Amino acid sequence: MKQAAETTPTNRDQTTAGMPMRALRFDGTALQLVTGHPRPQTQRGEALIRPRRAAVSGIDVELCRGLLGFHGTLGHEFVGVVEAVDGDDRTGLVGKRVVGSVAAVCGRCDMCLAGLSNHCRHGTVLGIQGRDGCLADWLVLPAGNLEVVPDTVDDDHAVFVQMVASAIQAARQLAIEGKPYITVLGDGPLGLVMVQVMARLNASVRLIGRYSEKLGMCEKWGIKHRHVDDVGRRADQDIVVDCTGSGTGLEIAMQLVRPRGTIIVKTMYARHPERSAHVDYCPIVMKEITLLGSRSGPIREALSTIADGSIDVVSLIGKRMTLNDGPAILQTAARPGMLKVLVDI
Ligand SMILES: [Zn+2]
Repeated sequence: MKQAAETTPTNRDQTTAGMPMRALRFDGTALQLVTGHPRPQTQRGEALIRPRRAAVSGIDVELCRGLLGFHGTLGHEFVGVVEAVDGDDRTGLVGKRVVGSVAAVCGRCDMCLAGLSNHCRHGTVLGIQGRDGCLADWLVLPAGNLEVVPDTVDDDHAVFVQMVASAIQAARQLAIEGKPYITVLGDGPLGLVMVQVMARLNASVRLIGRYSEKLGMCEKWGIKHRHVDDVGRRADQDIVVDCTGSGTGLEIAMQLVRPRGTIIVKTMYARHPERSAHVDYCPIVMKEITLLGSRSGPIREALSTIADGSIDVVSLIGKRMTLNDGPAILQTAARPGMLKVLVDI
């Protein structure tokens, strides 16, 4: 028996170690609900978590189309309960309902030491890069990534924490206060969260979308909005945030942004000869446009933004499914105009 006392997980972990579990997995070509997948093993400092509810994003859909060459268990948006912590559970996480930052980092490389651990050279990302995701009976993340969800925030709200964090990140990367013209492009769930987060900082922020139902939500929230076909491409926007999730987003953004303006890029999609439009990069040079990539953001701040009720997330729930629905979960999430798909695990 090679079992060092100091790395012994809690008893509960030992009883479930190696147990088969359900996991929604993509093998590079096909998506399948595997029922006999081995439970993930924790390493020292990591927590074993039972997801209760998960959400599906456009990134998950694109991963199944070949984005990042992903293989493994999908899912990075979850709320769950900590079942065990490998090593000392100093912060008393076992039994707590949590959300988590998706990037697991080394803490030692040049990026981590420079305070840029999101860009860790040796990191993994839950359900996106090198780490199995949350569309399964168990998931593993470093205990330090977790935030306890207050009792006042239910699962339907908490599961949106990644999206809100992603929007906060974009809002932080540039000073958006005082800028007169800011456009959020795309009325998918991320665009609808983004415009709410940014409108708190700058009331002139507007959303450009395609679906009347979603533009109606902006109306309800008191946020400016326009249909994409009704907008002049006048190159007068200081900042355009591309949340379209499609190859055409950047092209429209380049027509909207002013010379020397900035496009914040939130879109990632799998390259495909039939889907990837040829993008004309000339405007970047001619108008001296700044392109600013933006990824995940601060979980703790996102949780408190959700807790204070200043952002409407439950209106963004499009469909409820269960893990047993298997590949249909991703097919549903991929439907044009679909809002957020939530998954009961
Ligand atoms: Zn690192």
